[in-house]
Amino acid sequence: MTATTILLDGKALSKQMEAELKTRVQRIIEKTGVVPVLATILVGDDPSSEVYVKMKGNACERVGMTSVKAHLPKETTTAELVDTIRQLNTDPRICGILLQHPVPHQIDERACFDKIDIDKDVDGVTCLGFGRMSMSEPAYGSATPAGIMKLLKHYQLPLAGKHAVVVGRSPILGKPVAMMLLNENATVTICHSRTNNLPELIRQADIIVGAVGKPEFIKAEWIKDNAIVVDAGYHKGGIGDIELTPLVNRVAAYTPVPGGVGPMTIATLIAQTVESAEKKMLS
Ligand code: NAP
Repeated sequence: MTATTILLDGKALSKQMEAELKTRVQRIIEKTGVVPVLATILVGDDPSSEVYVKMKGNACERVGMTSVKAHLPKETTTAELVDTIRQLNTDPRICGILLQHPVPHQIDERACFDKIDIDKDVDGVTCLGFGRMSMSEPAYGSATPAGIMKLLKHYQLPLAGKHAVVVGRSPILGKPVAMMLLNENATVTICHSRTNNLPELIRQADIIVGAVGKPEFIKAEWIKDNAIVVDAGYHKGGIGDIELTPLVNRVAAYTPVPGGVGPMTIATLIAQTVESAEKKMLS
């Protein structure tokens, strides 16, 4: 690594965030006597999803909150999942709701996400939240993109006027991160599976965000020197969506895999749950 390459250390920043969140949770409990709760919903038995939900529950506990878990069978219908969300919306103890993505194919995931109350949408998955965020109105951002933005801001990386190329346009990652970069005055190109000349577009990127879901799909040789490299992917063997190893000596900054974007997603979910708890319980 050159002296000037910055490792965007999501693990360290998330620890720092958790320490601060713990103090804020203690304050809520001292003032109200009530422990804030995050509700997690897991549908089916996908092992990766189970691990993610567990990690989110553990992070709640580390900052002094509790999580309650609704684990529904893989045959659950849209109507049944909507019913669970409605109950959690009206439960006054619950400050935030996380519906773990993806849900089994028979469920209309979008319909279910959009049943989450905007005040409890701490994972930033609703259309309303996305629209508000896009218009720079107050809203909880989608957790992974919002975590990426926190990381870029923490390291004070210049975004205004830069050309950001986002590879991926999913509702929870590519699209919202593109809007967040646009709101920070980057010039944004969004690429997807129908994009022509992907390597040429990536060669123009000052900031590249990999959100493709394919191991090392984005090649190091497509990325120019001194770019800022954000890899949202995580695959078996600890590799991401970008071929990172050949890049670490010649880019301005990069997120390691693991230890970059992943921990920031969880810390952001927890931070947004604490914010929701403060709004509900302290105001
Ligand atoms: P997704 O829903 O599968 O979306 C993948 C996107 O990549 C789609 O927009 C797709 O385009 C695009 N794509 C697929 N093949 C392509 C190609 N050949 N060229 C250009 N674009 C292509 O995935 P996701 O949920 O956004 O996740 C993306 C990655 O982030 C995954 O590796 C996932 O594991 C990771 N992730 C990490 C976290 C975290 O907390 N660290 C959270 C969420 C996701 P179309 O729209 O045209 O199909």
